[in-house]
Amino acid sequence: MTGPPLTHPTHDQWLVQIDAELDGELSLVERAALAKHLVTCAHCAGARASQLEVRVALARSAGNPHAFVVPRPVIRPGALALWVAIALGVGLLAGWGAHQRWGGPGSGTPLEETRGTIVVH
Ligand SMILES: [Zn+2]
Repeated sequence: MTGPPLTHPTHDQWLVQIDAELDGELSLVERAALAKHLVTCAHCAGARASQLEVRVALARSAGNPHAFVVPRPVIRPGALALWVAIALGVGLLAGWGAHQRWGGPGSGTPLEETRGTIVVH
């Protein structure tokens, strides 16, 4: 494959666009371009799904699970901590799954407790 044209955004730029789209900051033209890319790019589509899940969690923690967008000021303070918590949760679940799959006695209990804590949150 030859290099993409200069006007073709990189994945990093798409991730910025995804962020803006979910904040309701993209024009229709930009949203259309993003939608087209997502059809062909599982990487960015997955990133968008993750971003959406984070926003759902944020909206829920803000007491408004049916919000259409999470306003920036609400995202800022807790976003980083939530990202870390979610990353930890995903990591623990993946580790837990791998543990189940590949066996290995003894060390299942702490992971189980941590999972329970995350679910309660
Ligand atoms: Zn992409």
